Amino acid sequence: MQRSYRYPGPSHHFPLLLLLFCFAISVSLPAQTTILHCGRLLNTENDALLSEMSVVIEGNKISRIERGYIAGTGEATVIDLKAHTVLPGLTDMHVHIEGESSPTQYLERFTLDDADVALRATTYAKKTLMAGFTSVRDMGGSGVNVSLRDAINRGYVDGPRIYTAEKAIGTTGGHADPTNGRRKETIGDPGPKEGVINSPEDARKAVRQRYKNGADCIKITATGGVLSLAKDGQGPQFTMEELEAIVQTAKDYGFHTAAHAHGPEGMKRAVMAGITTIEHGTFMTDEIIGLMVEKGTYYVPTISAGMFVAEKAKQAGYFPPVIVPKALEVGPQIAETFARAYKGGVKIAFGTDSAVSPHGLNGKEFGYMVEAGMPAIEAIQSATLTPAEILGVSDQLGTIASGKLADIIAVPGNPLEDISVMTNVQFVMKDGRVYKQ
Ligand SMILES: [Zn+2]
Repeated sequence: MQRSYRYPGPSHHFPLLLLLFCFAISVSLPAQTTILHCGRLLNTENDALLSEMSVVIEGNKISRIERGYIAGTGEATVIDLKAHTVLPGLTDMHVHIEGESSPTQYLERFTLDDADVALRATTYAKKTLMAGFTSVRDMGGSGVNVSLRDAINRGYVDGPRIYTAEKAIGTTGGHADPTNGRRKETIGDPGPKEGVINSPEDARKAVRQRYKNGADCIKITATGGVLSLAKDGQGPQFTMEELEAIVQTAKDYGFHTAAHAHGPEGMKRAVMAGITTIEHGTFMTDEIIGLMVEKGTYYVPTISAGMFVAEKAKQAGYFPPVIVPKALEVGPQIAETFARAYKGGVKIAFGTDSAVSPHGLNGKEFGYMVEAGMPAIEAIQSATLTPAEILGVSDQLGTIASGKLADIIAVPGNPLEDISVMTNVQFVMKDGRVYKQ
């Protein structure tokens, strides 16, 4: 049967051409220009602190950096940061944007719907952004974190750029098993779809499921954890074959990998398997430090989480009894491990595990790092340059340079002399838009 297709003549194209023409005019108009007058500008690449500089932002990008305070012309908006130090937007490489610890958190999985979790998470996202963290890596939640990332990217919600692991991957009864501690009839048998694996085949499926669900990276729980409702916080929870299957499959899908690890055996296996970052790293041995240096593995210390759980464990009823001894043991150890790993030459990336500690206090980690022996400039680099490197976005983020995305913050005073100013971020720009001034 002959179908009556008819090729439309030129006249049919006219409205479309007009539309395209108008669109071309609108996109060629100059983007909104903002000029920041910076009392001090920190170059995170060569740790130079430059005085009296101007940063020119056009649209969502940094167009140029000039000496002195240049005058604005025409429509340009000038922002006075002459009393401030201006630096790139910060990245926290370990948060859980969906929740926050509290004495009732273990009940929430039975009382909150996804919509409840999502709406509450918008407040955590905003607090995080206002604290100067223009990007975060979310190290696992229910999957709501993917929707929140998209909502932020679409401009529905104010928050940082989120790079999310979606749901962390663990083994049965392991730190990421979502049914730990439940009544028998509600436990079921979660599998790779829910992030619970028990073989290399499961491991591959769990990674592919994260890909399907829209994750940006893969998180595994290589050992037990402090806040899971299980006795052991340290033992290894994956076989070498399972770890290799995860890392290899993740590479196939362009994911980097992160391993939560407290005890040495699970940590060592994860490093050997080629994991990208070790989270917490509490009982890291000198042998593992050597292996991490050799393999280029990054360490995300999360000292804030250690400090917070050790303090709350002393408060009766804050944590269930099974968690208290783990929190008291792990907490104080992390700062000491961080000091040794840093001295041993391990590459450090800034991370707090916010959700364990409250969102928005991420900047306190800088103080802990400096107290443990890291120079302030390196602590700042660990939250700017290094995350960009791990996330594969060094061409867009991590420094204030022409052509990069305009994620810029400012603190009063000089953070290289007094790191505590990093908890007092007074100006936040993300993607060229000012969120705090
Ligand atoms: Zn965590």
